[in-house]
Order: sequence, then structure tokens, then C-alpha cells
Amino acid sequence: MNLAEKAFNKIFPDKEEKRVMKLKYSGSFSDYNANVKYNSHEIVFSLSKKWKKINENIVIGLIQELMLKLYNSRKTTHNMDLYNNFIRNMSEFARKNQDIDPLLRESFDRVNDKYFNGLISIPNLKWGNHSFNILGSYKYSTDTIVITKVLKNNLNLLDYVMYHELLHKKIKFYNKNGRSYHHNKNFREKEKQFENSAEIEKQLENFLKKEKFKHRIKKGFGF
Ligand SMILES: [Zn+2]
Repeated sequence: MNLAEKAFNKIFPDKEEKRVMKLKYSGSFSDYNANVKYNSHEIVFSLSKKWKKINENIVIGLIQELMLKLYNSRKTTHNMDLYNNFIRNMSEFARKNQDIDPLLRESFDRVNDKYFNGLISIPNLKWGNHSFNILGSYKYSTDTIVITKVLKNNLNLLDYVMYHELLHKKIKFYNKNGRSYHHNKNFREKEKQFENSAEIEKQLENFLKKEKFKHRIKKGFGF
């Protein structure tokens, strides 16, 4: 029995699946990505090679999360808990890039000192594209914040987006029935603690010409 079949039997002991379940490790994924593809006779789970070295019980949890999407089902298993804890803690072990742009470094220092008593360890910080749609992102698996270049000229807005992404690093995410919740009530309350946050939200809207504050959160895989 391969790991995909094992994961299936554990999460859906009463369900029948006639299609063949395959598991592949691929070198073409970045980081810890994974996906699932299927047709009428097979279901193929493709995982980044990096998962090969990870404890089987954690990998089963990852496959089970993919299965919930596939069957549009909601459930929680012990393996999924293990997997999500693994992702939540990955940022602490991610490799750190020493070469950080001074503008980003200064923004991080200002926000960390003012709102976190300097207690957040510095993540990898990078400029993204000139995007007006995606302002920032945080990736747990590599502990990386990416911020759009359009904020280079507005330090106050840059700090606000930095603060938002650092809140993700600090608060992490909450899991229920195979869904991950990143912007929960606690998160929104903390977000409002940024000085003049209501005013800054307005400025941000104007600055982005009424574009909504959109951004991406990555748990370390792409669905
Ligand atoms: Zn967010």
C-alpha cells in the first residue's frame, strides 16, 4: 500500500475509490509544494522531493488535506494536525538570507520595535513586482515576506503592510476541518492596533487607486 492509499483508508475508512491512487515525488516543485491531478482512472498526488525526508505521519496529513479538496469534504485527522503543526513551525527552521535591502530592513526594525517589543526574529524580506494587486505575502515554509515595489516611496504604508505580514508570522493560522483560517478575529483586532490604522487603510485605498487590499498567504504549497 502506498502512502496515498494509506492516507485514504485513514481519512475515509468507509469510502470506496475505484481509481488507482499514485504518489510521485518531483524535483520540479519549489519548496514544499504539492498538488493532485486526476482523470477517470487514476488520482496522482505529486509532492516536492523535499517531502521524502519528512516523517510519514506528517506527509499523510498533507495528502489528506489534498483529498479533502478533491472530494470537497471537511474533516480533521490526527495526521492533518501533525502536518499543520509542522507547517506552523517551519518558519523557525527556514534558511535566512543575509542580503536584505536596507529599506525593508529598516521598516522591519521600526515595526518590530514599536509593535512587538523587538521580539520577532527577522524573516527573509524581499521586494516583489510592481504589483498594485498583491501588496504583500508571507510564506511559512521559507519564512519569507514579499512586499510590492509600489510601496517603496511611502514608508508609512510600507510599515503597515510589513506589520500585517509580521502578524501572520506571529499569529500563524488556525485550522478546522481541513480549512486554514489566516485572518481570524484575533488577527483583525491586532491589525487595528497599528497607529491610525483606519486612516492608513483609506490612504492605502487612495494610493492604490481604489484597488482592494489583496494579498496572498502561502502555507508552502499551491493548490
Ligand atoms: Zn493577511
